[in-house]
Order: sequence, then C-alpha cells, then structure tokens
Amino acid sequence: MGIWEIDGIRQDRKGRKSEEEFDLLVCARKIKKIGVQIDVEITPLYCMNCNKQLEGFYKHDGSRYGQVGSVQCNHCDEEIRCVDHDNIVEELITYSGNQKLVLDYYKLYKLENEVWNKIKEKTGYDLFQRYSNEEWVPLHNVMDEICTLCNVRLDEIPPYTYNTSDKIKKFPYIANKWFALLHYLEIDI
Ligand SMILES: [Zn+2]
Repeated sequence: MGIWEIDGIRQDRKGRKSEEEFDLLVCARKIKKIGVQIDVEITPLYCMNCNKQLEGFYKHDGSRYGQVGSVQCNHCDEEIRCVDHDNIVEELITYSGNQKLVLDYYKLYKLENEVWNKIKEKTGYDLFQRYSNEEWVPLHNVMDEICTLCNVRLDEIPPYTYNTSDKIKKFPYIANKWFALLHYLEIDI
C-alpha cells in the first residue's frame, strides 16, 4: 500500500518505473451497474496549502481500510494525505492545508459515460460489445483498437490537453494520449 512519486528509479511490483509505462484500466459493466468503470493507478496531486500542483506524478499502490498514505509537497513541504474507497480507484480524496480536494478521475481524465457514448457514435467502437464479460482492459489497448478502426496511428496524433480541472494542469502520459485521441475524434464534451 502507499503512494509514491514515479521518478524513473523506483519500480512497482510489475517492474514499471517511468511515467509512460503506467496505464489505467477500464471495464464495461452491465450486470449490477451499467456503465464504464475505471481503476486508476497514476495520479497528479495538488497542494491546497500553497495552491500548486506537485511537480511529478504518483503511483497509487493500494490502501488499507481506505488509508493510502501521504506525500510531501515539493513546493512548501505540506503533507498531502490521501484516502480512497479501499477497492477500485475511481477517485482519490486528498487533504492538505486544512482542506479537502477530491480528484474524480472520470472527470479529470475524461472517461465519463457520455464520452464513451460519443466514441461509439463517431467511430462505432463499442467497449460493451468487445469486452462483454466485464473484464478489465488497459486503456492503451482500447486506444489501439479505436485507432485501428479509424485508420490512424496513435503516435501520429498531435498532442492536445483538455481543461478538465481548475487545479490540475499537467497530466500523466496515458491521459495526454487519451485527450489527443478524443480531440482527434472531435469529441467536444
Ligand atoms: Zn504546497
């Protein structure tokens, strides 16, 4: 368990140590709850004490009873305490500067159901049809499949960033790639 900075040196259990190696998982839920569920392991952080985004990106390494761990702000040394819901990571609750900030990854990384519906409308790509057994799929695989459908290479799509938060302005590699693809597909929600 814990949360630590991805710095190109320290490795996680799967041997990953650089930002580009971290993915996130999506799952097409249709039994209990209908919709796309996400499980996120790479996150930016924001300090409510000095009102700045922390320099690097962080690996969410699990929690115990919802306690993830804490990180020190690289600007002002404030402790940023992180809490989750003890299972699948859809959001992270952070405390710093005596304030609470919730990072909702559906909104932050643009993975809401409306986005998936729009993708289906524009490209015909249907996550529910492709992965009908509620299996977890890396977002990178999904992007590759959408690109194949659209006859485009992911690494040829120009970069683009959406303004999904008034605080977080710098996003991890996987989110940047996703934003670029959505923009290329003219998904404007
Ligand atoms: Zn700070």
